[in-house]
Amino acid sequence: MLISLSRDRVGRRVSGVGYRASGIGHRASSHRKGHCSALFSTVAMAIFPIRTYPDPILRMTPGPVAHIDDDVRRLVDDMFETMYEAPGVGLAAPQVGIALEVIVCDIGDGPFHLINPVMEETSGSWTYEEGCLSIPDRYWPIERSAHARVRGLDVEGRRVMYEGDELMGRVLQHEMDHLEGTLLLKRLPRRARKEALRQMRQEELARGEL
Ligand code: ZN
Repeated sequence: MLISLSRDRVGRRVSGVGYRASGIGHRASSHRKGHCSALFSTVAMAIFPIRTYPDPILRMTPGPVAHIDDDVRRLVDDMFETMYEAPGVGLAAPQVGIALEVIVCDIGDGPFHLINPVMEETSGSWTYEEGCLSIPDRYWPIERSAHARVRGLDVEGRRVMYEGDELMGRVLQHEMDHLEGTLLLKRLPRRARKEALRQMRQEELARGEL
């Protein structure tokens, strides 16, 4: 997920978005940009190309991770690297061409990830300008629940839970959408969605004609 930086600079409150994490799998600093994970400190991390609309993988429903092994841990590390490089605040595995239920996020309070996440609860309502790394350079005001709680596993197979309001709740909902093959375009009101698709098609045609 992307957030509109220009909007944040003019007063949108991004810091101070509270969230709670449970479980002991929250490796607070190991995924910071420029620092290799402790798990792969001797292996260079890789940056994936990010799949963009209308790549069909973005509409697929990925499957759960059957076994958390070194390949999955490597995937999580590479997804973090890709997300920070973009830069974005959240990334789901289908966005890098991997049809697995894995998400990574960092809204500025530290990195966290979830494997086979399940949305447990949402509540309230909040409209916020939102973007997606798979639909570059576009932002729309999108209404979502204000609060979300998600449970899943970490790279050690431990149960973890993340929840929060505002931006935290939003990034959780946005990334969970990716695991259901849903892009944020679907969250737009019908008319706005039609207009967005029309503009994107026009731009695609214009690029093709150059
Ligand atoms: Zn996205």
